[in-house]
Amino acid sequence: MGPSYKDYYKLLGVEKNAGEKDIKSAYRKLARKYHPDVNPNDKAAEEKFKDISEAYEVLSDADKRRKYDQFGDQWKMYSQGGGGGGGFPGGAGAPGGYGGGFPEGFRVDIGGGGGADLGDLFATLFGDMETGRGGRGGGAGPRMRTRTQAPQRGPDTEASLTVSLEDAYAGATRSLSLSVPEACAACRGQGVRSTGTSHTCPACAGTGKQGRGFLGMGGVCDMCGGTGQTDLENCPTCRGAGQVEKSRRVEVKIPAGVSEGQRIRLAGQGAGGPGGAGDLYLAVHIEPHPMFERKGDDLYVDVPVPYTDAALGGEAKVPTLKGTRLTMNLPAGTQSGQTFRLGGQGMPRLRGGGTGDLYARAKITVPKTLSARERDLLTELSRLHKGEGVAA
Ligand SMILES: [Zn+2]
Ligand SMILES: [Zn+2]
Repeated sequence: MGPSYKDYYKLLGVEKNAGEKDIKSAYRKLARKYHPDVNPNDKAAEEKFKDISEAYEVLSDADKRRKYDQFGDQWKMYSQGGGGGGGFPGGAGAPGGYGGGFPEGFRVDIGGGGGADLGDLFATLFGDMETGRGGRGGGAGPRMRTRTQAPQRGPDTEASLTVSLEDAYAGATRSLSLSVPEACAACRGQGVRSTGTSHTCPACAGTGKQGRGFLGMGGVCDMCGGTGQTDLENCPTCRGAGQVEKSRRVEVKIPAGVSEGQRIRLAGQGAGGPGGAGDLYLAVHIEPHPMFERKGDDLYVDVPVPYTDAALGGEAKVPTLKGTRLTMNLPAGTQSGQTFRLGGQGMPRLRGGGTGDLYARAKITVPKTLSARERDLLTELSRLHKGEGVAA
């Protein structure tokens, strides 16, 4: 881990304010010296070549250079838009990103293990260099394809929000306190700061090497660029992450009819980045309701019906999610579990408008205790059943 920081100026041996021409000539000189074709089987040279190419790709591109000046090596992470497996740049620390700073011509997918063909990759670049040299006076230099990108927004963030079925029914507004990562202000997102004096590199303990390497070879330490000495140290505010958690209050409108698992997008409320904040997605969870059961846009509710009403017919009170009670006519001979549809009393439909229905399920109740009179009447009724039968 540790901060991802390569001093591209130092790698090319140019001043911070070096012009385009100086950068180009410094690169070409170094590229010729360290080119793998000139140094076969020299891992260190290969590593160096990779670094200077990366440095040149960034410093030769005005937009990338500006971002690099502002965010240090972190700019790559921002440029990646938080993609890949890395998720949030702060967590990823450094790597993920070797590909990030590369000219497209020899982009290598480290993670893929797809067997990148180094010879091929370098040959492509070498061909381009030849052309450049041929053009002499023109000073074309190596032609590299670069992707020009607008400053990237921070990555999208996801959080969850639990609401009651009543809120899902009627819609609601919630004020949420969120903890969202933002670029550390103390180090401007770089994760490192200068101590003013050169000292043994804390990231590699002076070895100049980094555990995680390019194509399995030992990588060059990002903090010191392989020299083992640096004036940098991890930013104490963010401990090298380049990110800090900021808490923020946001107002969330929960639309009427929202369903379980649906995501509400809050534009610009995600993690911070150079091109603005990403979006925040709130996954909605709906609390189970003690009375109502939701199936799509329909609602189901059990309605207790006394056995006498079930037999004779009558009225039943049906609760709604609005908090009101509707009167429903029960036909004589209502059966246990029989459902009655109350049109338009279900959940509002988020798409297409309208509402679902409410289904009242008759739950026939039998008294636990009987008065003497009730017992007499029921006994007579029972005899009637057994003896003469009952008219349908
Ligand atoms: Zn180091
Ligand atoms: Zn910091």
